[in-house]
Amino acid sequence: MLLVSKPILGMEEKAALSEVVDSGWITMGERVREFELAFARLHKAEDSLAVSSCTAALHLILHALEIGPGDEVLVPSMTFVATANCILYVGATPVFVDIESDHVPLISIEDAEAKCTSRTRAVILMHYAGYLADRGAWQAFARRRGLFLIEDAAHAPGRVEVGTYGVAAAFSFYGNKNLTTAEGGAVIASDRTLLETMRQMRGHGMTSGTYQRLTSRNPNYDVTMLGFNYRMDELRAAVGLVQLRKLTDWNDTRGRLTELYRRLIAERCPSVSIPFGEPRISTYHIMPVLLPEAAIRSTVIDQLRQRGIQTTIHYPPVHRLSFFRTKCPNTDLPCTEDFAHRELTLPLHPDLQPEAVETVVMRLAAAVGSPRNLLAAE
Ligand SMILES: *Cc1c(COP(=O)(O)O)cnc(C)c1O
Repeated sequence: MLLVSKPILGMEEKAALSEVVDSGWITMGERVREFELAFARLHKAEDSLAVSSCTAALHLILHALEIGPGDEVLVPSMTFVATANCILYVGATPVFVDIESDHVPLISIEDAEAKCTSRTRAVILMHYAGYLADRGAWQAFARRRGLFLIEDAAHAPGRVEVGTYGVAAAFSFYGNKNLTTAEGGAVIASDRTLLETMRQMRGHGMTSGTYQRLTSRNPNYDVTMLGFNYRMDELRAAVGLVQLRKLTDWNDTRGRLTELYRRLIAERCPSVSIPFGEPRISTYHIMPVLLPEAAIRSTVIDQLRQRGIQTTIHYPPVHRLSFFRTKCPNTDLPCTEDFAHRELTLPLHPDLQPEAVETVVMRLAAAVGSPRNLLAAE
C-alpha cells in the first residue's frame, strides 16, 4: 500500500532508544533539554519547550496568555480539531473563520476582520499542508486589532520563518508529521518570560522537576501556578534529536516530490487542480488536490484503494463536526465547505519514490476520467 504518510525510522532511532534504556533515566532530563535547544537552533529561536503533544502546546499557550471565559479566539475551520479544542479547554469561545479561496486554503484575513468583536483576544493561524500564512499581513492585522497572534505550526517544522509570526507557535511530532517522536510537541515563543511560565506549567506548575531535584540534591519544591502534566520524556527526545538532523533534507525531498506531482497532474490529469499554485514557502507536509466538481470522491477513493493507494481528506471542517455544530451553531463558511467537499490528499513522504508518484497520478487520472465517477453519467 502506498501510504499518505509514514514515519521514517531506522537504526539510528533504535540506537538512540537503546542508549536511553541503558542510561537508566527515562523521564524528562538532559536529552529533553538538548532536544529543546536543537529544535530552537534549527528555527533560529533562542529556546523552545518540548511537550507531550501539539494539543498540549496550544493549551499551554492559551492558558499562559490568560485567555479564558468571555474571550473569543479566531480560528480556521479547515484544520485538525485540536486547533479549536484548545480554545474550549480554557473556557473561551472559538470563532470559525473561512479560508481565503480554493487556491489558498489558509485562514482569510478579510473574514477574520469581519468576525472581530470587542471580545476577540487572539487568532490562531494554521500553516495548512506546510504552506506558510502571510506573515506581514497577519502581523499588521494583529497589531491593528490588538490581538495575540498564535501559530499552529503542526504542519510546518523546519523553516526559520515559523515561530516568528506572533507571541508563540505550537509544533507536533505525532507519527504522521514531518518529524516524529511518536507523540510529542514543542512551543517556540517570542517572549522569554512567557516561555518560562509555560515551562513551569508543563510540569504541574512546580518550581523544580524530578531530574533537577536529583541533580541539585534539593528535595523541596513549591507550586506557584496551575500546571499540567505535559512533559516530554527522554525516549522521545532521543528519537527527536535523530529526526531533527534529517528534517531539512526530508522537507527538501517532500518539495521535489510535490513539484513532480504538480507537473504530472497538469500534464495527465488537468481536471484536478492543486492549491497553492503561486510560489509560497512550504514544508510540504501533505499533498492536497481538488477533484473536479463532477467527480464522486468516494468512488475515486475506492478505486485508488483497490490499486493499493491510500488517500485521505484534510479536513472535514471542524464547524461541521457534530460536537462543534452544537457548540457553534449557525456557522456558515462557504469556501471552507466547498474546499472540504472536493479535497483529496495523495501520498507524500520522504520515502516515496518518484516512480510511485507517477503511478499515483496515472491511477488518479484513470479514476477521475472513468465515466462511472462522473455525476453526469449517473
Ligand atoms: C496533528 C495536528 C495537531 C495535533 O497534534 P498532536 O501532537 O497530535 O496533539 C494540531 N493541529 C494540526 C493542524 C495538526 O495537523
